[in-house]
Amino acid sequence: MSAETTLPDYSLPEEQVPMFFPEVLAESDVAALKEEIAGLLKARNAVLVAHYYVDGHVQDLAEETGGCVSDSLEMARFGRDHDAPTLVVAGVRFMGESAKILSPDKQVVMPTLAAECSLDLGCPPDEFEAFCKANPDRTVVVYANTSAKVKALSDWVVTSSVALPIVESLDAKGEKILWAPDKHLGRYIQHQTGADMLLWSGACVVHEEFKSKALFDLKAVYPDAGVLVHPESPAAVIDIADAVGSTSQILAAARDLPHEMFIVATDRGLFHKLRQRNPDKRFIEAPTAGDGATCRSCAHCPWMAMNELSKVAEVLRDESAMRDKEIRIDPDIAKRAMVPLQRMLDFPR
Ligand code: SF4
Repeated sequence: MSAETTLPDYSLPEEQVPMFFPEVLAESDVAALKEEIAGLLKARNAVLVAHYYVDGHVQDLAEETGGCVSDSLEMARFGRDHDAPTLVVAGVRFMGESAKILSPDKQVVMPTLAAECSLDLGCPPDEFEAFCKANPDRTVVVYANTSAKVKALSDWVVTSSVALPIVESLDAKGEKILWAPDKHLGRYIQHQTGADMLLWSGACVVHEEFKSKALFDLKAVYPDAGVLVHPESPAAVIDIADAVGSTSQILAAARDLPHEMFIVATDRGLFHKLRQRNPDKRFIEAPTAGDGATCRSCAHCPWMAMNELSKVAEVLRDESAMRDKEIRIDPDIAKRAMVPLQRMLDFPR
């Protein structure tokens, strides 16, 4: 059974999506910046934790310096379990906030605090609180792509890698769910589990742009290609997929499925790892709106793109920059947000 929301559309308007053109560096500059950052990480006793969508050089550097590259769930775990007192989180703000909530005694800095997420921006805490109050009989499940304030209002936090089994288990206990903020992921989970889910109406500006008709056309050109889709994409795109899943699950599918070529519907930052790990396979981007060449149609998150090598170096160079770009969360909100976040981490996998 499902319930339809009467909420307004919380997709981010085009004008609120920044245009961002990542820096283009000569190989020698890349090498020099990487060497400098590696030295600074050591000097500051810091570790670099990067998401799969950020610049490939930053991903490589994280691995080369003993940090990690992963999805948001593993980023949170890694940051919590690492003994470095300072975490440099290359991703978007909610990832820095999750790291801080789980490691309140650590300093968590980001290359830029301007790295937002359309899902987070499309779920204002006050309006979300009113939605929760209007539906008190529902278990509140929020996607990790939300602010600490929204997490503090929830019963469960989930990432795309664990959303399905967690909702399944809640449904098995007869719980009705209030889901936020991604409507496409919510609908996908609702469809898979049959759970009673009331959906917020946010969307990811990157994944919402994948187009099913153009994907069908591309499949006709490459009939042997497998299709890998992130569940933040529209239902009609998900319907064409050979595998649907989080970034980690897409990487696993690319490794395990027999296809030699894949069409991939997720942020193109993931192609760095897909190609590194599968040098004999070919990966092509699923089509987006394309022709207009707006920031929405480039299959790359403008906020993730802000995590450039030069910004990682900048934040580590002097202590005042580190203080300026430090994640700070009201301790009471952090304490409340920790409860649903911890529930997710404790969920048996
Ligand atoms: S890709 Fe989408 S969901 Fe991920 S950070 Fe960017 S806007 Fe948010």
